[in-house]
Amino acid sequence: MGELLKVDKIKTEFQTDKGPVTSVDEVSFDLKEGETICLVGESGCGKSVTSLSIMHLLDRNGSVTEGSIRFEDKDLAHASEAKMRKIRGNDISMIFQEPMTSLNPVLTIGDQLTEGIRLHMNYSRADARSYAIEMLKKVGIPRAEGIIDEYPHKLSGGMRQRVMIAMALSCKPKLLIADEPTTALDVTIQAQILKLMKKLREESNTAIILITHDLGVVAEMADKVAVMYAGQVVEETDVYTLFDNPKHPYTLGLMKSIPHITNPDDMRLNSIPGSVPSARNMPKGCRFYDRCPHAMKRCLAEKPELKPIEDKQAHSIRCFLYEEEEKNYEKKHAEKQHAEKEVSS
Ligand code: SF4
Repeated sequence: MGELLKVDKIKTEFQTDKGPVTSVDEVSFDLKEGETICLVGESGCGKSVTSLSIMHLLDRNGSVTEGSIRFEDKDLAHASEAKMRKIRGNDISMIFQEPMTSLNPVLTIGDQLTEGIRLHMNYSRADARSYAIEMLKKVGIPRAEGIIDEYPHKLSGGMRQRVMIAMALSCKPKLLIADEPTTALDVTIQAQILKLMKKLREESNTAIILITHDLGVVAEMADKVAVMYAGQVVEETDVYTLFDNPKHPYTLGLMKSIPHITNPDDMRLNSIPGSVPSARNMPKGCRFYDRCPHAMKRCLAEKPELKPIEDKQAHSIRCFLYEEEEKNYEKKHAEKQHAEKEVSS
């Protein structure tokens, strides 16, 4: 699998009347062809702003001010709007939580689907319509030949989300960004949409950035996971390691908040006390300090960096706790070696 996307230490700022506000700070991750990464975290942690930064779909007052975004051989962070227009909907597509925000209520499903197909794939009107019907069938829309001439308000939420997926995948993108695509749907439809995304991923080797706050969705879909907190990635690893051996105190808190089938009926779920700090007033040291059960003195003044732990390049944490553990281990190891030397001499 070749590397498709490399996001390297991006910083996204919004200019406001009260000065610049940083929403995303030093966010890095990479993605190979056909791979799925889940960006996880509470609302306001920077997941959506990260994806909108990649797509150049930030509000007018927002921009990526530091870092780089490489997609294949292209530098997206500094791409012109004309170049991004060619990439969006062609190489990279996006689906959102609420399809009505992306579907135009005054155009039929067919008009909206065929517009992108004709623009990016140079199909004739008739060929684009046949291909659109084929795509609608592929995403499980019944009576696709009739639905294509309907307006979005005639469809249920689940059907609209399927139409959005058909639109997003019609030009066979190399990367699909899905921002909470199943949050507004009931669990049965949610399961169907996830199954559909998996099937399409297998068929076309599309890489996926899936934004979610639902750890059940993560377990179902992810190859790897970046846990975000207050605009930063605080833990990044493969999905198995994340569930088997989570390390960052925030990830541990999230894990404890998931209901488990073996829990007693009357067991109260754990919640992480406190709230995410405001982007206008970020703490000087660790951003999780106020909520962290393991906070140390140094966490108040020093900023932790995202670093690999236990010599595993594939598991990175933004926390001093493991540095302290390492230091203690090194200290104990040196003491042990010293003691052994003394005994043998
Ligand atoms: Fe907690 Fe300190 Fe780690 Fe931050 S750096 S998560 S405050 S232990």
